[in-house]
Amino acid sequence: MLERSEPVRLGSYLAGRWQEGAGEGSLVHDAATGRPVARLGTSGIDMQAALRYGREVGSPALRALRIHQRALMMKEIGLKLLELKEEFYELSYATGATRSDGWVDIEGGIGTLLSYASLGRRELPNGHVIPDGKPEILSKDGSFIGQHVFTAMQGVAIHINAFNFPVWGMLEKLAPTWLAGMPAIVKPASQTAYLTERVVRRILEMGVLPEGALQLICGSTGDLLDHVTCQDVVTFTGSAATARKLRRTPAIIENSVRFTAEADSLNASILAPDAVPGTEEFDLYIKEVHREMTAKAGQKCTAIRRAILPAEHLDAVIEGLGARIEKTTIGDPSDKETRMGPLASMDQLADVRAAVRTLSGEADIVIGDPETCPVEGGAFMAPCVLVCKDPLTASVPHEVEAFGPVCTLMPYESLEDAIAIANRGSGSLVASIFTNDAENARTLGLGIARLHGRVMLGNRASAKTSTGHGSPLPQLVHGGPGRAGGGEELGGVRSVFHFMQRTALQGTPDLITAIAGKWMPGAARNTDGPHPFRKSLAELEIGDTIVTGSRVVTLEDIEHFAKFTGDTFYAHMDEEAAKRNPFFDGRVAHGYLIVSFAAGLFVQPDEGPVLANYGVDNLRFMAPVYPGNALQVQLTAKQIVERESEDYGEVRWDCTVTRDGGEVVAQYDVLTMVAKTWPRA
Ligand code: NDP
Repeated sequence: MLERSEPVRLGSYLAGRWQEGAGEGSLVHDAATGRPVARLGTSGIDMQAALRYGREVGSPALRALRIHQRALMMKEIGLKLLELKEEFYELSYATGATRSDGWVDIEGGIGTLLSYASLGRRELPNGHVIPDGKPEILSKDGSFIGQHVFTAMQGVAIHINAFNFPVWGMLEKLAPTWLAGMPAIVKPASQTAYLTERVVRRILEMGVLPEGALQLICGSTGDLLDHVTCQDVVTFTGSAATARKLRRTPAIIENSVRFTAEADSLNASILAPDAVPGTEEFDLYIKEVHREMTAKAGQKCTAIRRAILPAEHLDAVIEGLGARIEKTTIGDPSDKETRMGPLASMDQLADVRAAVRTLSGEADIVIGDPETCPVEGGAFMAPCVLVCKDPLTASVPHEVEAFGPVCTLMPYESLEDAIAIANRGSGSLVASIFTNDAENARTLGLGIARLHGRVMLGNRASAKTSTGHGSPLPQLVHGGPGRAGGGEELGGVRSVFHFMQRTALQGTPDLITAIAGKWMPGAARNTDGPHPFRKSLAELEIGDTIVTGSRVVTLEDIEHFAKFTGDTFYAHMDEEAAKRNPFFDGRVAHGYLIVSFAAGLFVQPDEGPVLANYGVDNLRFMAPVYPGNALQVQLTAKQIVERESEDYGEVRWDCTVTRDGGEVVAQYDVLTMVAKTWPRA
């Protein structure tokens, strides 16, 4: 619980200082006790100054950092936040969250920040520009090419968040924003802003972030959105109604501002016909529907609102759910015995009750009484299950979201009906399918994919390892079409690009190499000076090349390689059989023999700055090599990635193998680790 008895006055951190709005502001209350916990407001605060500050102070400071420096900064923040987590849990109870609800929000949020810190260093180059895809050769002689690149946008990302995940909601959006090199203004929902405020305060106190990279609004956004430009990004999580309203802000429309919404959706979970009572899948289904109803008291954007099940199992599902609900302890969220806390506020409770009354027009309540309080004093509500007998014609249960511990059961007669019912949600964040039958999984999965951002398949084989229906993961896309807002978050590096501009560069390979920071085919190769394997990362430059001598491949080589490796495939061993193959004129060298001989040609064997070869990318064998052909290699430093906290970096080499001085027979990238200095410091 909050340690103070008087409500705290929450400030907003804007334009480089903590500011309080004029007047009393509005009060927010502890969800379990109704005690006032915080007062907040932004009346009179200059929002345009905050935008300017982000653009003029935060943006250049973040952009000056290389991507891996930004990632390391995020790692430091994440690790320090973990040390402070107990302080956040204490505050989190006032939002109605139990310890396990808080874990998803607090440690889930910090974990997402840390995941992005590592993803950024693993999957993105350590520079300021991110090449996107492969170069496109636009002229026959290769003198005019195209390459897509991402560069940082130079505005501010405004993140307007929902009340249900005050920490995760902020950090999952900040992570890709900062990696992209953009500053952010975070606006948490008023109801739980005190927890977000505490986390922001602690982040700023660390002194790790460049000034201006993070600003906070506790209270109304005022006229902030009236001044956004095409370099800003607005992301929103909350109700579909607010999403619609904000999307129509004139400045957002007129300046084509990127606006991403993650709005409420009526997520479904389908019990397939094979998952009859008594199977593990049936039990998993009951467990998952109950968990999604009661975790965070059902206040999750991904919660199961519609449970779609074979009509003949309706009674068994009601019985299974009823048994679990009966055992659910509702009460003080800070009590270890409590399984479900209150809703976030009395207003929220009133909204959920009103939604259930609306649902009751087309569905019958079979478990729970939403109108009575199971615990006195706060926004408590017992889980409530309804049954909609005719989900193919009813409309309200597919439209009205009761954002609490409420789920409507929807019986179906055929797989086609199950698909139609799920898709009547008109676009959802997630759906799950419980089945142990591949054909059912395929029919249902393909039937609903077009209207769902994520589809989780549950069965006995993943019962222990599955991350569950309701958990968005940093690696996977979170968002959904239509009703769900049409936006996309997370999904690994995909979300970083939401905060960057993709530009198609066209020009000569040399000019594009200079901008993209990556060697392009046809660009100059520097063959002067020592072998590039003798150069440390400090000396090596993009374009440094070794052109090797040549080596003739003999039939003895092919036979020796075949016997040595055991690869006696007929195309290498049997002249007549090889000739019958449409691609060959006779026996050919193994592809891996070509790669091995290429390494023998380009290597410089002495101990030196090249520490290890950790793989090849994009290996293609483009033409056969026959006995008598002479192989030659050009190896060119293509991309250099410095590791910030290591004494080595990564070098990607373009490796082109030709036969008889002409045709390319193999093409690939060789990946090596190279010391920053040699001898090593
Ligand atoms: P809202 O859509 O009202 O609010 C979401 C966020 O938008 C809050 O930060 C809110 O701030 C802000 N906001 C509201 N109006 C404006 C505006 N005109 N300009 C700028 N910002 C604005 O959702 P609620 O949090 O009130 O929840 C209402 C319903 O939304 C729930 O009952 C549920 O159905 C759904 N919901 C869906 C979620 C999801 O993840 N998909 C999450 C949470 C809710 P403030 O709090 O200060 O008003």
